[in-house]
Amino acid sequence: MSTILTYHYVGDAPADAGSHKSLFVPKHEFESQLRAIKKMGLETVSPEEFHAGLLAKDLKRKVWLTFDDGRLDNYELAFPLLKEAGLKATFFIIADHSLGCEPGYITVPMMKEMLAAGMSIGSHTLTHPHLARIPAEQLAREVAASKQQLEDALGVAVTSFCYPYGNFNAAVQEEVRAAGYLLATATIRDNRNCDADRWQLRRAMVTPGKSRSRFRYMFSSLYHWLHEWKNRKRWKPREEA
Ligand SMILES: [Zn+2]
Repeated sequence: MSTILTYHYVGDAPADAGSHKSLFVPKHEFESQLRAIKKMGLETVSPEEFHAGLLAKDLKRKVWLTFDDGRLDNYELAFPLLKEAGLKATFFIIADHSLGCEPGYITVPMMKEMLAAGMSIGSHTLTHPHLARIPAEQLAREVAASKQQLEDALGVAVTSFCYPYGNFNAAVQEEVRAAGYLLATATIRDNRNCDADRWQLRRAMVTPGKSRSRFRYMFSSLYHWLHEWKNRKRWKPREEA
């Protein structure tokens, strides 16, 4: 397997979370998932390590933990638990929100602290638009300026990109490649990736209420086969659209 896990929020969903409820993984569940990762003998990797593993076809005992949107709970709840467990993760930041110090989002000093502790920062655009639906100049800005601004603010290379809403097409992928990223993650569900998937890496999304066996299933061949079958219908027409 070459599993990439997707998280959004860690913590309890607020009463008004509505359809976003499935994006909140309670703290105790996240803690037990980190324990399970260690028990399974898996090593968490950075984007660069995942990329090297893709090229070398050696991601067997590796897992890439990713967090979308860069909300404050990622810093307040997930980060201390990751640090304590000695595991690493990548946080996909919406640059305008975080660099603009918008309440509820991870700030630059927080990101610096996370980087110093072995975490990675990726770009999730400037404003979180549907990239396949915006004009070319705006697309270029969302992809390239977010990378540049995060790199200027943090003093590190930002090598990974995440498509908001999993929305992309060939032109968007080309823009991401041309901007100098190494990898891009999508919302296509699967736990297997190869080098050909570099600009549309498949991920397994962690939703709340997962039992231990359900969590382990996300690393199994069965998960792969089932989602490969489902994706045949789900993704082919959309990518062409
Ligand atoms: Zn997002």
